[in-house]
Amino acid sequence: MSFKDLKLNKPLLRAIAESGYDNPTLVQEKTIPLVLDKKDVIASAQTGTGKTAAFALPILQLLYDKQNEGKSGKKTRALIVSPTRELAIQINENFNRYSKYTNLKSAVVFGGASIEPQKEIIKKGIDILIATPGRLLELHKQDLINLSFIETIVLDEADVMLDMCFIDDVIKIELLCTDQIQ
Ligand code: AMP
Repeated sequence: MSFKDLKLNKPLLRAIAESGYDNPTLVQEKTIPLVLDKKDVIASAQTGTGKTAAFALPILQLLYDKQNEGKSGKKTRALIVSPTRELAIQINENFNRYSKYTNLKSAVVFGGASIEPQKEIIKKGIDILIATPGRLLELHKQDLINLSFIETIVLDEADVMLDMCFIDDVIKIELLCTDQIQ
């Protein structure tokens, strides 16, 4: 299977080609069509098998397709929750790479770092937010993040998130989003 067979749009295909990827990995081949079809998905695959692109590419495509529907400014419509700051930063780098030929913007927020610069980035308006659970709830408490427009949520490394006892935070975050989230 090729990335073209997955019906990804041109700006994404261009970024994929620039990343040097020839073909989708198995987890991408299985996951991308389901996410594009707005299904809820649980994916399990070994480290280094391309799981990040398996969710990042279809999310970018869904957001790109709907980009011009409402012209009332940027609303954050995708949320990626990560158990660690290192993983959150990596995910954001992936989104930046794949969204290079779109107007979509992502940003990352995490604990253990000054909150002020993160506030400034969020205020500018972003389409995709990548966050660790505690910092996300803190920013929400300060009324700096509106989660009511989130359409897609990803719990990356959900097993690690459970091991790290983030379950209560994750439930809180989910409750702050609408009922119809993918
Ligand atoms: P991940 O499992 O998401 O951490 O990805 C592991 C590595 O595989 C990263 O360096 C990605 O850039 C790379 N990668 C992701 N998808 C592909 C692909 N289809 N072909 C080749 N490399 C890929």
